[in-house]
Amino acid sequence: MADEEKTRLLHQLQDKSEAFERQAREDALTGVQNRRSLDERLAQSFEIATRMQQPLSFALLDIDHFKRINDEYSHAAGDEALREVARVLSSVLEDDAMLARWGGEEFAVLFPLATVEQARVRCEAARAAIEHMNCDAFAPGWRMSVSGGVCERTGLSHHEKLVSRADQLLYEAKRAGRNRIVG
Ligand code: GH3
Ligand code: MG
Ligand code: MG
Repeated sequence: MADEEKTRLLHQLQDKSEAFERQAREDALTGVQNRRSLDERLAQSFEIATRMQQPLSFALLDIDHFKRINDEYSHAAGDEALREVARVLSSVLEDDAMLARWGGEEFAVLFPLATVEQARVRCEAARAAIEHMNCDAFAPGWRMSVSGGVCERTGLSHHEKLVSRADQLLYEAKRAGRNRIVG
């Protein structure tokens, strides 16, 4: 094989492997980061923030009554709803926050260097943007909303505790009537 041909094949292989790496970090439906990817970043950021004594906040946002979209419209409408919610969240939270699809209809946001007060303001902006979404294109008449729990690293020994704390606060937001951020 000619050297030129070998170089071309090598570049092709590199491009393929970069594409695979990207896909492994991405949620196939929404295009945002997947849980594995954000979990890795969370573990790294948590360690650095603890060492440097810097703030770090984490939020879980869950779509309210999402099951009804599937039931009352269709599963395809549910998929489209997830894509649209991810798009709105990305545009509101871009730059200093990292968004991921954490599970079914749940999203996670990592706020490096943010106190819980700062992260809460950002989550509140995200909540308000979702509340004003127009869903007529995929679920006519549907009013979208999310509930969220947000908390800060301070005093916690492990990043998993940050996740479980956010989950508890999310549960409180649901119990208190949904469409709200607790933290
Ligand atoms: P709550 O306000 O308490 O969060 O209620 P909910 O209906 O949002 O929550 P629940 O956990 O009861 O239902 C979540 C539903 O999300 C169930 C599941 O079928 C649906 N779901 C999860 N992943 C997907 C997906 O990728 N596409 C679609 N269309 N539906 C999904
Ligand atoms: Mg839900
Ligand atoms: Mg859920």
